[in-house]
Amino acid sequence: MNSHSFSIANTEVPPGKRASAMLHVTRTLRGDLAVPVHVINGASAGPVFAVLCNVHGDEAMPLLAALRLYREIEASKLSGTLILLPVCNPLAFSDFRRESAEQRENTDLHRCFPGNARGSVTEMIARTLAENVLDKVDALCDMHSGGQGGRIHQRADLSEAATGEVRDKSLELCRVFGTGVVHVNNLPPSTAVGYLNSRGKPAAGVEIGGTYMAGPMTEEFVSRIVRGLTNQMKSLGMLEGAPELPAKQYLFTRKERKEANPTKGGYVISHANDIQDLGRWVKAGEKLGSVVDPYTFEESEALAAPCDGVLFFSRMSGPAEAGAKGYAIADAAGLKEI
Ligand SMILES: [Zn+2]
Repeated sequence: MNSHSFSIANTEVPPGKRASAMLHVTRTLRGDLAVPVHVINGASAGPVFAVLCNVHGDEAMPLLAALRLYREIEASKLSGTLILLPVCNPLAFSDFRRESAEQRENTDLHRCFPGNARGSVTEMIARTLAENVLDKVDALCDMHSGGQGGRIHQRADLSEAATGEVRDKSLELCRVFGTGVVHVNNLPPSTAVGYLNSRGKPAAGVEIGGTYMAGPMTEEFVSRIVRGLTNQMKSLGMLEGAPELPAKQYLFTRKERKEANPTKGGYVISHANDIQDLGRWVKAGEKLGSVVDPYTFEESEALAAPCDGVLFFSRMSGPAEAGAKGYAIADAAGLKEI
C-alpha cells in the first residue's frame, strides 16, 4: 500500500507527484541500455499498478494510451501508484522486431521472466523489470497488439494456470478491461502475467489494436485502451467511479480458439480489416479474406470462418507468408458469458 513516497531507479516520487526515470540494464555495444519508466504517485494510499507496453518490440500502439494516461490522470485524484512502461524491450523496439536481435538464445522478452542478470541481454532486461517493477506491484496489465505481421486484435488473456483467489482477481482485471472476450490462455511463469500470478498477484494480458493503421482507427483503439486501463484502476479502487463495460462479455479456452490461416504465401485481401470487425459475430463459412498469388495473379486460397463465433483477431490487407496467422474465432459452441 502507498502511504509514503514511491522509489524507483534512484528517483523518489512523493505522494501527489509524478516523475520519469530510466531503469539501467547494462552497457551494450550500442551504448547504455535502459528501460524508461513513468510514475504517477497518488495523493492517497492504494495499490501499485503497472502497465507494460512493447514487451514485444513491434507492438507499439498501446504506448500511445500510456502517454495519454500519463498526461491526463491527476495525482490528486489517484489512490495508489501507477507505473507506466512504454518500451519494455528497447532493443526489439528500435529494430522494429518482435524479439531482440542478439547472438544468444532467449530473445523473446515475453518468455524471459523473471530474467537472469548473467543471461542474454533480453534476460537482463527481464531481471531489471522483475526486480524494479514486477516484484513491487499489487496488480499488472501486460499490453500487446498487432505488430509488423499486420494483424489487429481485441481480447484479454487470463492465465490457464491461475487458481483460487489469484484467478478470481485476474479474471476480474481481464473482464473489466471490456474487450468483449476473455481468452483462458497459456501464460507460463516466464511471461510477466504468469510470473505475477506465481507470486500470488493478479495480472491480465491484453491484445488490442495494431500498428500502422489509419488515424481514426488508431484513435478509436487508443480510446478503448485508455477506457480499459481506467476501468481496471476503478476496479482496483485507484480511481472513483464504476467501470464502463459492454453489455455482454464471454470467456473461452484454447479448445474454443479456431483459426483460419494462410497455408500459402501471398497478398491477403482482407474482408475483415475494420475495427468494427473485432468482437463481431461471424458465421461458419463466411469469407474473411482471400490470398492472391503475387506471381500468378490467381486466387490461391480462401480464408473462411471455421465456425460460428466471435472474431477476436483479424488482419489488414497486405502480404503474408505461408503459415502466418490470419483470423481467429472464439467458437460459439463453448462460449461462457461472464
Ligand atoms: Zn505480443
